[in-house]
Amino acid sequence: MKLLIIGGVAGGASAAARARRLSEESEIILFERGKNISFANCGMPYYIGREIKEEEKLLITSPELLRTRFKIDVRLQSEVLSVDKKAKTIVVKNWADGSEYIESYDKLIISTGAAPIVLPIEGSGLPGVFTLRNLDDMTKIDTAIDLGAKSAAIIGGGYIGLEMAENLRKRQLDVHVIEAIDQLMPPLDKEMASMINETLTENGIKLYFNSPAQKITKQNSVLVVHLPDGKDVCADMVIMCVGVKPDNKIAKEAGLNIGDRGAIIVDEHMKTSDADIYAVGDVCEVKTIPLSIPAVIPLASPANRQGRIAADNIFGKNSTYRGTQGTSIVGVFGISAAVTGLSEKVLTKNNVPFEKIYVHPNNHAGYYPGAQMMTIKLIFRKDNGEILGAQIVGQSGVDKRIDVFSMAIQAGMTVFDLEESELAYAPQFGSAKDPVNMAGFTASNLLRGDTAICHNNRIPQDDFLLDVRTEKEVQKGAIPGYYNIPIDELRERLGELPKNKKIAVYCQAGLRGYIASRILKQNGFDCENISGGYKMYKAFRK
Ligand code: FAD
Repeated sequence: MKLLIIGGVAGGASAAARARRLSEESEIILFERGKNISFANCGMPYYIGREIKEEEKLLITSPELLRTRFKIDVRLQSEVLSVDKKAKTIVVKNWADGSEYIESYDKLIISTGAAPIVLPIEGSGLPGVFTLRNLDDMTKIDTAIDLGAKSAAIIGGGYIGLEMAENLRKRQLDVHVIEAIDQLMPPLDKEMASMINETLTENGIKLYFNSPAQKITKQNSVLVVHLPDGKDVCADMVIMCVGVKPDNKIAKEAGLNIGDRGAIIVDEHMKTSDADIYAVGDVCEVKTIPLSIPAVIPLASPANRQGRIAADNIFGKNSTYRGTQGTSIVGVFGISAAVTGLSEKVLTKNNVPFEKIYVHPNNHAGYYPGAQMMTIKLIFRKDNGEILGAQIVGQSGVDKRIDVFSMAIQAGMTVFDLEESELAYAPQFGSAKDPVNMAGFTASNLLRGDTAICHNNRIPQDDFLLDVRTEKEVQKGAIPGYYNIPIDELRERLGELPKNKKIAVYCQAGLRGYIASRILKQNGFDCENISGGYKMYKAFRK
């Protein structure tokens, strides 16, 4: 068997190593256009910020290791120009000596990744306008800082844009983040993403929303990003972080089936429309978990898993790829935002009915020093409680909980299963009722009819609005039109409430509102709890 692999980073390198572990005899050749294989793209922002001090640390596996330990013929600076699927050959350009040659294959794996999108606007090719995909790009940005750049305009507030923002601040640059839509971190829903805005501005990042960049000009030595409202953002460098597009050129020209989003269509074995060609990583289209919606979700973990699965199938193992949940996390200035599964936005767009709850538990026991609150949004089916997605914003412990939700979604679990989750607890790590349990209790209470809720984005106008927080809390801000009875006085003051009107009750985070709604319900009132309390009211209006 002669196996050729195009692309030597996450998907390609994983496929190559797995292939060798499965077959000692086969000939395996890995072609990489760049000078490095298997480098840590994800670590590049942290090298720029000097969190990672030595560039060599980003080189996870050396070509020598793949050659000696895995007997893989690694060819660097070797760009595959074309694939002839009929003849089962590829054309390779060796950039080191300028030569071109043909190589034949029995099986081929394409892992060419995704290229950063460069906005088609005037000035996007000016010197000082960068994208970040590989170590060369990283060095260019790093050199610009060494040469004295004092400010940066980052176009795009997704996770790479935000990681760059934090790391450029660490290098003392003035940082502007320019976002075309009304929120950062598009995989999250807006009210959740908005919770990180304040942390960014407190740390000196200037945010611009609803501001698609119109053009970039150079005035004297400064780059100017022009925004629609006539506002100009001036900076010494511009970094475009507006997303990526599948690097599909050779696949397209070879006549492989390509989906609407420009990614290669593969089956559950990672096989393309050609029986001898597989594709893995950012260049291929996936189906979401849950619901199997076609999508392009460029992340390192799927690319690595898919590389392994492609190699398995080539060497006779029947491995299947289940789909991509889009489990991801970003950490900036001590705050983390994480997501897994489908967002409210995606479900709404696909006309999928759902319910959601918000809870604000502590990361560990409140009595143990240093407890920090996180906000969890849990999205699930109304009919059977199946979990569809989760989003968390907080500080410590966000990573642990999002991974629990991720596994629950993959296992097809329901909110009732979350009630029963038994998770590690000692005071410094969690709570006897873990945040995951709390989300499960709240969602299950709702589905069992123990409580009714309404959402902060559509509080019924004709409800009687009852605030059950303390007077001190209310003084710091309340929902207009509220009537205040602190929870501990509620039983004595029930006479103040109307029996002929629905009562929308709220507290700060949702828990006291729930307790109040149970008291009210058992006393014959018609009531609903405003999910997530005043905290989510504010988040929805940011
Ligand atoms: P890539 O890793 O992009 O590798 C493709 C390789 O193919 C490239 O080296 C390219 O040079 C080569 N190639 C392309 N065409 C040819 C050709 N014709 N001939 C030869 N070689 C070719 N993901 C996460 O999950 N978490 C993170 O925190 C995270 N952070 C990131 C930060 C940054 C700055 C970037 C850029 C990406 C980040 N990602 C992160 C995304 C993650 O790196 C990618 O999803 C993953 O690397 C995809 O692997 P891949 O093998 O599909 O493609």
